[in-house]
Amino acid sequence: MDATWSSEESAGHNSLGLRVFLYGPPGSGKTELGFRLAQSLNLPFTDLDSEIEAQAGLTTPKIFASEDESGFRARESAALKQALAGRPRVVALGGGALLDPTNRAQVEAAGNVLCLTATQKTLLDRLRATDERPLLAPNDASRLQSLLAQRSDHYRSFPMQLDTDSLTLEEAVWQAQVHLGAFHVWSMGDGYSVRVSAGSLRHVGHALQACGLNGPVGLVTDEIVGPLYAERVTKGLEEADYETGVVVIPAGEAHKNLDTLQRIWSGLLAAGVERRSTVLALGGGVVSDLAGFAAATFMRGVPWVVLPTSLLAMVDSSLGGKTGADLAEGKNLIGAFYPPGLVLADPSTLASLPEVELRSGLAEVVKHAVIGDPALFQLCVGGWEAVNRDRAALVRQAMAVKIRIIEADPFEEGQRAALNLGHTIGHALEQASGYRIRHGEAIAIGMVSEARLAERLGLADPLLAESIAQVLHGLGLPSELPPDLDRDAIVGAIRVDKKRHGRQVGFALPRRIGDVQVGVAVDNADLAI
Ligand code: NAD
Repeated sequence: MDATWSSEESAGHNSLGLRVFLYGPPGSGKTELGFRLAQSLNLPFTDLDSEIEAQAGLTTPKIFASEDESGFRARESAALKQALAGRPRVVALGGGALLDPTNRAQVEAAGNVLCLTATQKTLLDRLRATDERPLLAPNDASRLQSLLAQRSDHYRSFPMQLDTDSLTLEEAVWQAQVHLGAFHVWSMGDGYSVRVSAGSLRHVGHALQACGLNGPVGLVTDEIVGPLYAERVTKGLEEADYETGVVVIPAGEAHKNLDTLQRIWSGLLAAGVERRSTVLALGGGVVSDLAGFAAATFMRGVPWVVLPTSLLAMVDSSLGGKTGADLAEGKNLIGAFYPPGLVLADPSTLASLPEVELRSGLAEVVKHAVIGDPALFQLCVGGWEAVNRDRAALVRQAMAVKIRIIEADPFEEGQRAALNLGHTIGHALEQASGYRIRHGEAIAIGMVSEARLAERLGLADPLLAESIAQVLHGLGLPSELPPDLDRDAIVGAIRVDKKRHGRQVGFALPRRIGDVQVGVAVDNADLAI
């Protein structure tokens, strides 16, 4: 599965087949980073300069010597045309390839240009460690300086920039994926692609095609999201000649049960879904948990794709392949690991998400920040305005934390349990309140309660719970248990939790921002909350 597409709506349908172009001055690391990025995204890689050399049968300095720069540029434009016509890929461009306005227009229409930057000193150090450069004698600081002086406005004019100066190669590859909103989750078999792209719902049919997914498609959505976005999706599917049947289920956690699953299974049959066709889950976490479980079990398993429309679903439930339903006895007691074929998040759908749901999703964003991203936590410290300034970027950053964790531990045998932060108490709270408390709100309260538990056990930095609570308040989220809730009912629900072993419950507890300890056994007696 190698499809990918632009994170910019303007790049439109052409970019659905993802092309990433790495650009920047000599020494910015385009080739090395491009090669590794392509591996990470499960895409082929082209180094344009090597392609030109292979086609000419000459090294770049020899082409410059025999044909001048103009001859080289003509060869470069021709090689670029070929790269644009071929399969989706990552392309490392030469440092002057987009000076030609026609080249630039073609490349920007076809995909995303990520411009790599670094200080002059870093560029020079890197160049000194490599072979000859045609426009730049090695060790020649003054020539690099004049080249940068000529081209710096040009390089700065590309909207997507990545400063590689203080990053290791691995960090730069990861940051490139976060900037692009393009990931490949390497877990559970061949893994699956994740794309964050405003406006992408309209292009879902082409996305399915690019992933080799078949119809007829069973589109599962709920009664709130369906009227807003199902038509957009079905039109996108029609454009790519997919037949679609829509299955609408009631909205909300109260319906995440076996009755609704029965309804989905019957709806998929009526939609003509077969063993090799595809289920689409369009909606929040309730829809994706149910539709994913339905797909896992329908005809012994059919492929499925997640189109998450709530913030929580984008940053959390769409990733990791956990699917399931609740029983009256507790949340998510029925379920299966069943990874999707593709996750396609369109952040423009967040515009219609009620504020209360947005806040609920922000609880999971804060959770991810506490687990593994102090920079994301700092962003959250800025409050409501700061996190809403660029929601697509927030989604990409928060998704990245979860993707790293599930890649390391797909079946929750170790570190993945960190994602349960706030959930052991949170789930119990949801249940004890009869689901009156929203999932995200319950997780917010659970996170602070669990941080306090960690402080009591001597695991956490003092004041950790307070700093998390303050961030949650800044986002309009609760941090304290509602006074009217029966504490014994909550503790009782924790004891039914799947993470219980005998007289102890296994918690993931925070030690500091960016560091969570998993598998902390807490005796029933210490569970006072
Ligand atoms: P949800 O699916 O109930 O969505 C919340 C509400 O928002 C619903 O009424 C829905 O119709 C509405 N909505 C969704 N997108 C909208 C949009 N763009 N515009 C307008 N309304 C929209 O709940 P949720 O918060 O998305 O997800 C919570 C569920 O996810 C829980 O059941 C939880 O257990 C599950 N979850 C699963 C995982 C996992 O790994 N599988 C992880 C975290 C949470």
